[in-house]
Amino acid sequence: DLLVNQIAAGEVVERPASVLKEVLENAVDAGARAIEVQLEQGGVRRIRVADDGCGIARDELALALERHATSKITTLDDLEHVGTMGFRGEALAAIAAVARTSITSRAEGASHAWRIEAGREPEPAALDHGTVVDVADLYYNTPARRKFLKTDATEFAHCDDMFRRVALARPDIGLQLAHNGRVIHRLPPSPPPARVAALMGDDFLQHARELQADAGVLRLAGFASLPAYSRASRDAQYFFVNGRFVRDKLLAHAVREAYADILHGARHPAYALFLELDPAGVDVNVHPAKIEVRFRESRAVHQFVFHAVRRTLAESGA
Ligand code: ADP
Ligand code: MG
Repeated sequence: DLLVNQIAAGEVVERPASVLKEVLENAVDAGARAIEVQLEQGGVRRIRVADDGCGIARDELALALERHATSKITTLDDLEHVGTMGFRGEALAAIAAVARTSITSRAEGASHAWRIEAGREPEPAALDHGTVVDVADLYYNTPARRKFLKTDATEFAHCDDMFRRVALARPDIGLQLAHNGRVIHRLPPSPPPARVAALMGDDFLQHARELQADAGVLRLAGFASLPAYSRASRDAQYFFVNGRFVRDKLLAHAVREAYADILHGARHPAYALFLELDPAGVDVNVHPAKIEVRFRESRAVHQFVFHAVRRTLAESGA
């Protein structure tokens, strides 16, 4: 099955940042209140994520590195109502197929922790609570893939992006990121505006409007920059759907049109916007990296986002 896993890994594990994404999302799904990330050499040498979530019981730990071992879907019907980040049960198996992977975890109420490596039996281990996932030497066994990795600095930048997305989506969780032993972000749990300021800058927050729109089935909240904000770049455009970062043409277009309508072609806007809707109204299963989504009522979503952003900009007297 190693070959099947290595093929699947090609879709899930494109680079260190994709490993980080999966492992961070698992920590969030586990209900973590605090997550600590340590990277070495852009994540290529090591990605280590420690969380204080619910942990994994010994018997499930043995399964966690196997394909389609997910604890998050029990019926086909669940697929329609995906509430957690993970739901395919193949990320850890795919990662373990292309990197030296271990998981140490202590389930709530367990007398001690267990540690597992792919193809081995769990062994007793020491850990106070939660889970530590350690992913070392990415692509050590697939040199052809390793060649596609960029410099450590570039791979780190992608990891940093990924970390920022999760940190923006979950201001209620304390998050830390260190690279080669140096702390890059130390983010205590905070109210959304404080988290936005920590990640996008005080300057952004001062030159942004808070946005709140509620149409019952569709809700949009967040912050969008005013024209006076001149430092905006394409990197500062964050859109989340039901807590997931997405890069979606329809949503980006709706925002761009709203700015164009009010500001007549100003520079790149900056924003962090959070759309919430019934999970049944959005398909998140279109791509393994889960960055694109498909809306059932795409026209209605476009209209709603366009008008919400437009109204906010208009009220600001832009
Ligand atoms: P998925 O997230 O799609 O279920 P994964 O391969 O990412 O699949 O994870 C497999 C399973 O391992 C999860 O369903 C979950 O039960 C368990 N797991 C992984 N990481 C953690 C974690 N940090 N804390 C608790 N359980 C975890
Ligand atoms: Mg997962």
